[in-house]
Amino acid sequence: MAGVGRGAPPFPVAAEAWLVLERLWAAGHGAYLVGGAVRDALLGRETHDWDVATDARPDAILGLFPEGGYENRFGTVAAHGVEITTFRRDHHYADHRRPDRVTFTDSITDDLLRRDFTVNAIAWGRAAGAQPEAADIVDPSGGRADLQARILRAVGEPAARFDEDALRLLRAARLAAAVGLLIEPETLAAMRRHAADVRWVSQERVGIELRRMVEAADPSVAFRIMADTGVLQPAVPELAARIGRSPHRSPGPDAGAGHDAFDHALATLDASAVLDPGDERLRLAALLHDLDAVIAEGLLVRVAHPRHEARRIGRIIGGQGFRYTPDWSDADVRRFLRRTGPDVVDDVLRLRRADNVACGWPPDHGDVDQLRVRVEAQRAAGVPLSLADLEVDGTDLMVELDRPGGPWLGALLERLLDVVTDEPHRNTKRQLLLDAHRWADQGRA
Ligand code: ATP
Ligand code: MG
Repeated sequence: MAGVGRGAPPFPVAAEAWLVLERLWAAGHGAYLVGGAVRDALLGRETHDWDVATDARPDAILGLFPEGGYENRFGTVAAHGVEITTFRRDHHYADHRRPDRVTFTDSITDDLLRRDFTVNAIAWGRAAGAQPEAADIVDPSGGRADLQARILRAVGEPAARFDEDALRLLRAARLAAAVGLLIEPETLAAMRRHAADVRWVSQERVGIELRRMVEAADPSVAFRIMADTGVLQPAVPELAARIGRSPHRSPGPDAGAGHDAFDHALATLDASAVLDPGDERLRLAALLHDLDAVIAEGLLVRVAHPRHEARRIGRIIGGQGFRYTPDWSDADVRRFLRRTGPDVVDDVLRLRRADNVACGWPPDHGDVDQLRVRVEAQRAAGVPLSLADLEVDGTDLMVELDRPGGPWLGALLERLLDVVTDEPHRNTKRQLLLDAHRWADQGRA
């Protein structure tokens, strides 16, 4: 953390960010902390990903930080986990997404005024050649006042800013939710006018923002803002299509009038954030659980979510159709466990708890917790759940029955697993080979 006194930062600064500032200052450059870390530090929130803006040009930055490397085509250098960017002005955004070119400037004020929101356009640092005690806040758009009033406001003319870069529409919804800000009315009106521009944002970028929205403390907020401004439809059409539709599960006691499938998805998302904080996978499953598993998985793959994760979330959603009653036998529990998949069953049960809360029931409604205990007991007993757990394999059966491999083999193994699911004690090599013989003989008869 940096020292205190005259010219000291008004908030704690991470050691790496301080190292970057000092090296730039010592070389005679102007350098400032900017962006989300300054915003979060001023709010007393946890900070991460420090950004530094400087009048040093990219080649000079790289000269001072040979351990760093270029991050993008505009010459941002990443060193010590800090992004160092030359003060710049953007020019003409032909594609509603990226400026065609940038001009470097020596003015921190110009650099701040090209940024998206006033709360992100606050800097702390000092100009080239200035005395250490001259270090100060630079805040040309009133970002601190907005931060204090908890307002998210576009820098300058809101409509022009969203027209330039449609990603700002998603950033607005995400930052409002994550930081806990209210979107200022003119900024909100401009979002409505430009909502359709979200189609210019790459699917990969949509995915990044979606994950960040879902991670917010109050995750439904970002989705409400998107729905209210019309941003949701071009960003996540599958979710927008659920507005006004009835949820797949019949509503519980507190569902309330006008509670549609979208409301239900958001209520489940918020419930999962409360019941299992920090579980991003469960939050995504909760948000998408009212969609068909195939649609949910397709959506995630489209926005470049890791494929194995998308698959897993699809399986969690696919597993939620069970109706447990305490009269289930242990064999019923084992069949449920096998059908759902031992690797996702826990997520499926936690999703049901969130879904219960969203329906106005207590989390344990439908005795899910009892089912969870029974599933655990089966698992702890080491019962066979997959073909790999059987005491015979395909080779054993081919040898024993003296038949070459073929479709019969898979079918027979599945049948043996069914038997063992009902009666785990039959999982011995001797017993399974006996069963296999008996069925093979029956098959020939
Ligand atoms: P996070 O908490 O997610 O890091 P952030 O505001 O720091 O939020 P970054 O993507 O790290 O987001 O961007 C750093 C800074 O760069 C922002 O605070 C903002 O000043 C500026 N910025 C980022 N994206 C844009 C954009 N699309 N248009 C204008 N300015 C932007
Ligand atoms: Mg950041």
